[in-house]
Amino acid sequence: MTGGAYALDAVTRLLADLVSIPSVNPMGRPLEGDSYLEGRMSDYLSGWFHDLGVQVERRTIAPGRDNVLARYEAPDSRRTLLFDAHQDTVPVEGMIINPFRPDVEGGRLYGRGSCDIKGGMAAMLLAFARLVKERPKGSASVLMACTVDEEFTHVGSSDLARYPHGAALAIVAEPTRLDLIDRHKGAVRWKIVAKGVACHSSTPDRGRNAIYRMAEVVSLLARYADELARSTPDPVLGPPTLSIGRIEGGQSVNIVPDRCEVEIDRRVIPGEVLAECPARVTAYLSERLGDISDLEFEPPWVKMPSLSASEEGSGRWLEPVRSAIETATGRRPEVGGVPFGTDAGPLGQSGLPALVFGPGDIAQAHTEDEWVELDQVRAAVDAYYQIALDLGRA
Ligand SMILES: [Zn+2]
Repeated sequence: MTGGAYALDAVTRLLADLVSIPSVNPMGRPLEGDSYLEGRMSDYLSGWFHDLGVQVERRTIAPGRDNVLARYEAPDSRRTLLFDAHQDTVPVEGMIINPFRPDVEGGRLYGRGSCDIKGGMAAMLLAFARLVKERPKGSASVLMACTVDEEFTHVGSSDLARYPHGAALAIVAEPTRLDLIDRHKGAVRWKIVAKGVACHSSTPDRGRNAIYRMAEVVSLLARYADELARSTPDPVLGPPTLSIGRIEGGQSVNIVPDRCEVEIDRRVIPGEVLAECPARVTAYLSERLGDISDLEFEPPWVKMPSLSASEEGSGRWLEPVRSAIETATGRRPEVGGVPFGTDAGPLGQSGLPALVFGPGDIAQAHTEDEWVELDQVRAAVDAYYQIALDLGRA
């Protein structure tokens, strides 16, 4: 931590603490080393809420992975808001800075998670602390939720969606450059496996080459992706997409491979039924290939709902939230959509209106030298506080 003799402000201090605690999401890979999972972050957060004098609830979602929840009851509360920020970060391989040493330089704080989304979490926590300490009249109550596993399968926010939160609206922290996001794409990811028969490569006719079979599948899926790209787009988010992100098969050049698999990323737009997307792909392949009994379609490991805006849903909260942000920051936020998924997907799907708002730019998230502008984090503290204040009355 640099910063010389200057006393660090509360934002920098808290964000530096959060960044220095590794909470890396293994993203489905085997655990190695001690920087993985959210456990230490959950311990820190529990202690932080405890020091603030509020009750903490830890809900174990998976081994070593707890959602941490704390509630602020406003004195004359008419309404509860759910504040959501995720504890996990993406992995640190390939970073050109020390991921867990929060360096401050030129108004930026560097480190893994600084932008996505420990900056937003620090801002939400400090706004929450200010509510607890000042107990302003007329504000909304706030349930502050720090979720696990946002970056991979969203099990944390899926649990939160089922939790008796009693909230009228969720504000989800993600790097939006202090603009407001009311819609985003969802995603479903699954594997297709081609099964063949292995044999010595000197007599390939005795086997069945799984890579050749997968090549047929891949070229059909490329066509399918083209068709999707030309289908009716969402007016804000564009068309749905499909991309094959990984392929793996074969053991050795002198063996006819008996297995080849691909991983598929299908982005869905509001209005599409997530659960139907893999079955559509299966049907598309079956119509063109005939017998597909040598293909295995594994159940999806990511089912991330899209977020859509509607008049009855987040629509009615848009204007009060927008003007609260403008009051706090002096800048009227743009309203729009983003292609990436967030914790707001599962919350929105459960019927809870959700808006995404936070400091930092998604362009700096997940990068080799991830950073966030501290002034944006400071502005976000005021904005989250003002949202709670105004929405108690709205
Ligand atoms: Zn994030």
